[in-house]
Parts: sequence; C-alpha cells; structure tokens
Amino acid sequence: MDGASGRSGPVFNPATGRQTGAVDFATVEEVDAAVQSATDAFSGWREMSLAKRAELFFRIREVLHARRDELAEILVHEHGKVFSDALGEVTRGLEVVEYCCGIPQLIKGEHSEQASTGIDVYSIRQPLGVVAGITPFNFPAMVPMWMWAPAIASGNCFVLKPSEKDPSASLWTAELLREAGLPDGVFNVIMGDRVAVDAVLQHPDVAAVSFVGSTPIARYVYEQATAAGKRCQALGGAKNHMIVLPDADVGAAADAAISAGYGSAGERCMAVSVVVAVGDVAQPLVEAIKERIPKVKVGDGMDPASEMGPLVTQEHRDKVASYVENAPGEGATVVVDGRDGVPGEGFFLNPSLLDDVTPQMKAYVDEIFGPVLGITRVATYEEAVRLVNESPYGNGVAIFTRDGGAARQFQFDVQAGMVGINVPIPVPVAYYSFGGWKSSLFGDRHVYGPEAIDFYTRGKVVTQRWPDPATSQIDLGFPQTR
Ligand code: NAD
Repeated sequence: MDGASGRSGPVFNPATGRQTGAVDFATVEEVDAAVQSATDAFSGWREMSLAKRAELFFRIREVLHARRDELAEILVHEHGKVFSDALGEVTRGLEVVEYCCGIPQLIKGEHSEQASTGIDVYSIRQPLGVVAGITPFNFPAMVPMWMWAPAIASGNCFVLKPSEKDPSASLWTAELLREAGLPDGVFNVIMGDRVAVDAVLQHPDVAAVSFVGSTPIARYVYEQATAAGKRCQALGGAKNHMIVLPDADVGAAADAAISAGYGSAGERCMAVSVVVAVGDVAQPLVEAIKERIPKVKVGDGMDPASEMGPLVTQEHRDKVASYVENAPGEGATVVVDGRDGVPGEGFFLNPSLLDDVTPQMKAYVDEIFGPVLGITRVATYEEAVRLVNESPYGNGVAIFTRDGGAARQFQFDVQAGMVGINVPIPVPVAYYSFGGWKSSLFGDRHVYGPEAIDFYTRGKVVTQRWPDPATSQIDLGFPQTR
C-alpha cells in the first residue's frame, strides 16, 4: 500500500540476498486514520453476540487452516526460515485462534446469589476499545496471532504495526480476515518504523499496547505507553540456558541443543543460546554436538532438504558472524566456525559452536539471535542455577536430566517464565499463557491463553437488588452485607 511519508524500507528474500520489494512507512496522520477506522468499528463489533463472534472465529480458523501453506511460503520468502518451520509457526498461531473460538466460555464472569439478603453480585468483563500490537520480524504470522486473535475475540478492534522487515504476512492476514467475514475496521494494519510506533503510543484513543521485540525497545514501549495511561505488555529479548546434568543422556541432550540452538537459524526468542554443562558431561556433550553439526542442511527455505535457512538481513548476518570472529580474543574456543563453507548468495551462516564461554564474555552476555551456540562449563548444579538466575533475562530455560528430584528442585529454584524439563523449547500450549520474567517482559500479563483475555478486557462488578418499595428506608451508614 502506498504511504504519504515518502519514507520506505527494503524487503529482501534472505535466501537470494536480493531485494524483492519495499514497504512505505506510515505518517502520524496515517496512523490516526487506522485508529479512527478501528474506533468507528468498535461499537458495532462490541455489540455482536458471543455466538456470532464464536461462529466467525470458527470460520477464520477454517480459512486460515485451508490456506496455511500459502502463508508459510510468504514467511519463507521474507524471513528466510525453512518451509516446515514456517508451517510450524502458522500451526502454533492457529492454535491460539482455535482457543479463541471458545470465547463465550473464556469471557464468562462469576455470580453470587444472595450475597446479602435480597442482593446478588456478579462480575462481567468488557473490551477495552481500540488496542494495538507491535511485532518483531522473527514470527511475522504467529506473534500477531498471539495478539489479534484474543483482542478481537474479546470484543476489541485492533491496529497492528508489524516488523518492516517482513510485512507481507500481515497484509495477507488482513485480506484473509475480510474474506472470512470480519467487519471492516476491526483489524487494521499500519506499516512503519519508530514514527508509527510513537504515534500509536501517544494516541489518546488506543487503550492498550502489546509489544514483542528486543529488550531496549520493549522497555521504551512500556514506559511510553504506561506514561500515556495505557495498559501495556511488552515482551523483550532473551538469553536462554539449557542445563545438562551429568546423568543426562548425552545423545538426546546433543540432539536437543542442535534443534533448539540452530532451528530457525537461532532467530527465536526461545532459542537455546547457552548450554551449561555440569561436571563430567561437558566433554562428551561438546563432542556429540560437534559431530552432529555438519549434518545440519543449510539452504534455501523452499528446498525440502533444507533444515536451516539464512538470517534475515545482511547486517544481522554480519553482526552474528562478529561474535564468532571475536570469540578467541575473549578467551572462548571456536569448535565449529559457521563462517566456513556458507552456501549461495543469501544471508547465510552455518552453525557455530563456541566452547569455554564464560559469563564475562560478550558471546555470553548478548542475545546473539543467530546460529551460534555457546558452551559454559560449570562444576555443580548450584553454579548452573546461579548463572540462570543472575541473567538479566528470564524467558525460557531447560534442564536435561534423568533425576526427577533434581528436575523438580530446578523448577522450584529457577527464575524464568517458561521451564522445560527435557524439553528444549518450552513454548506453552495455547491454553496456557506465554511470557518471561525480568527483562524479558515488562508488564504483569503474559500473552495468549487466559492472561490475554484478562489483558484485553476490564472487569466490572454489578451489585443488584429488586426491593419491595414498601420496605424502602433511608440508611446513611456504610452498606454492610450481613
Ligand atoms: P525490534 O525490537 O528491533 O523490533 C520490534 C518492533 O519494534 C518492530 O515492529 C519494529 O519496527 C519496532 N521498532 C524497532 N525499533 C524501534 C524504535 N527505536 N522505536 C520504536 N519502535 C521500534 O525486534 P526484532 O529485531 O524485530 O525482533 C527480534 C527481537 O524480538 C529479539 O530480541 C527477540 O528475542 C525478541 N522476541 C521476543 C519474543 C518474546 O516472546 N519475548 C518473541 C519474539 C521475538
């Protein structure tokens, strides 16, 4: 869609490295127009019965499901992830849409009959109005679904500002929702950069903002939105640890580290970035991971043989590569150098493995967001947990062990929002909520699942009685319930 700002950004196919399009960035006036369209649609949408809303959500689910390959292909062409992974993203997003088909049940309040004599009390949840979502490049379909599905199902109208790096999935979704029968103005997309984000954050008619992206921007969005009186949930970056205890099955732990470290080229907020090897397991584990790396097939995401695609941009690819370049200078050992033998012209990097990574190194501290896995060797379980708990992030974490007692203790001790026990990427299913702790989430509500319904609605409690006028009397005392 053409914009009036005269400012735009390039869109690439990361597998070829070639520019395939450009996206115009919205002006403040264009953001206003989107919010106005949502505001105009709100009263009609809010009045639609829960039965009809649920029916429409079933229809959206059917259309999305039928055309999921089309959406996955769009993701491959602009993000770079491989087709099977893109389809996985669409499927996990669809599960959130499926959850929202149950909105009549999800939004139910509570009722207390005879709370006091002749008095009943009940609670209802009502939509906020116009709500906005600002999303990152790495899940261009699923993360918007985390937001728009529960927001719209709860009776709100939605304005989406997706990443400017891979914008097509959002425009495709808007068309699809219209085709499924969603009234005009209930779902709106604006393209843009900081100008559009600031306009959303300052807009008086936007009641709530959901954000997913890097930690500095999440913090900024949270501070700006809440200062402007909005409800806000802002999910940030991560540095996810996978602890491997000495009793773990080394082969299974190595398989998990490869899958979670290099899947989607490490561009997942739940990717494993540091493997913390406890005691004697370190050497055999490093060898097992090293042995598996050459078997990872790196290539164009549309090639069914590819298991890992390119990174999203040349700039990001070069930044990720710089961590491998600088690792020896920091004292780490480069076991596998992913800069060697890179395929094709695109923004490719092969998997890298760094050993002897210590908490002072940039390779440990920074969220690299690429296919670079670090191994940190520690002597004890306590040291491993301390490392996780001292991290400023608290998104996902995993432990690999055969000892149920140790795993249970870990779940008790660890400071992170999502914990995997022999599961490397513990993304909660759609009927639980997703979110980290510490600098991985600003706000107090996680996304999707029950907490999303809570986030996108506000509570109202009604106290009612139907007295006999004959018994009416004046009482200036504070109302008592006994
Ligand atoms: P990003 O923070 O650069 O961008 C996210 C969004 O913010 C985009 O829509 C972008 O246009 C906008 N934005 C960028 N700079 C801005 C600025 N200065 N002012 C206002 N808005 C701005 O993130 P990204 O690179 O697109 O995505 C990767 C990051 O997202 C990683 O840090 C990753 O961990 C994180 N992420 C977190 C989760 C989670 O659930 N916690 C999920 C996915 C991604």
